[in-house]
Amino acid sequence: MANVQLPYGVHDLDPQVIVHPNDPNLIRCYVRGCQQFVRRPTRHSDGELCPDHGIYCHHSRFGSTYSYRDASRNIIASPDVFANSIVGHPFKYESHRLGAENSEDALSWNVFRSLQEAGLLANVAKLMIGEEHRQEPDLYLWGIQVNDDSFEPWDLLIAAREQFESNLPVKRPLTEPDIALHLPGEYLLLIEAKFTSPNPCYTPGKRKDLRSLTLRELLDIYWDSSLQLLDYGKACSAPCIHYQLWRNTVFAEWMSARDNSTTRPYHVNLVRRCHESQSALEFTKLVRPQCRDKFRRAEWEGMALAIQDNPAARRSGVIEYIDEKTAGLTKAFEFTPER
Ligand SMILES: [Zn+2]
Repeated sequence: MANVQLPYGVHDLDPQVIVHPNDPNLIRCYVRGCQQFVRRPTRHSDGELCPDHGIYCHHSRFGSTYSYRDASRNIIASPDVFANSIVGHPFKYESHRLGAENSEDALSWNVFRSLQEAGLLANVAKLMIGEEHRQEPDLYLWGIQVNDDSFEPWDLLIAAREQFESNLPVKRPLTEPDIALHLPGEYLLLIEAKFTSPNPCYTPGKRKDLRSLTLRELLDIYWDSSLQLLDYGKACSAPCIHYQLWRNTVFAEWMSARDNSTTRPYHVNLVRRCHESQSALEFTKLVRPQCRDKFRRAEWEGMALAIQDNPAARRSGVIEYIDEKTAGLTKAFEFTPER
């Protein structure tokens, strides 16, 4: 049994939503056995916290989920470091959802920070890219260096943003790789992590909203004649392009070349089992055949399986966390550890 307090999980939550018979905005707290009815958050109000469990109970036609007011309660690895150094970091584009059950960012921090503390990042890199190195890679989350206590922005990412994003036609967030593993001179792996949201795509034609690019702009902006991994010509006639995957593949290649001529670029789309197979397959068709090993789809469950017997991983709580983790109040991952 791990010695960390996990967020409320499969065994704590009752996915059966009970709405108050006299007021549709009052929801019974999702923690099993709790009798409190609390006002759900809406666009117009923050809602009420369950006084016993410190959570907001969200309920709408999009589904049901919960969130903590205190984001550190959603964090299993170094919660103090997280609260003091990551929440509100100027390099982190969005940090207000970190207390949410469905937060991709909280999941990424919990899993990768735990793996780092357990000394397992080289194992995970081997699983994802097939390269075996004894040395642990540097870990970056959202472009922030998390190896030491400096939490410096990643210089290679800043350089890539200057190269490709210094003159965007619309006001939009800059490229922010969720996770990166970097062994200087050897490999540079960017990981686009997905939890409950899909890989979004652009189709030809007008921009989807005021902050999006057109497909044509994406291809014009995120390209450079030195790049080899992607097939630009093929992309020009593609019916849709998963633009986060495109941007991150371009960044991985450009940043690795800038690191060292020997550094091999990789980009992994880390998703849940049975999710995003189609989008990853479509994107693979835009990767040149001789570079197909540089883009891969990997599963959170596969990572959990690979490290489940490791004592340090067990102690960190990450195995139990992935097993217990919920999305929309029900079990998130098709993973049950061997006891
Ligand atoms: Zn409660």
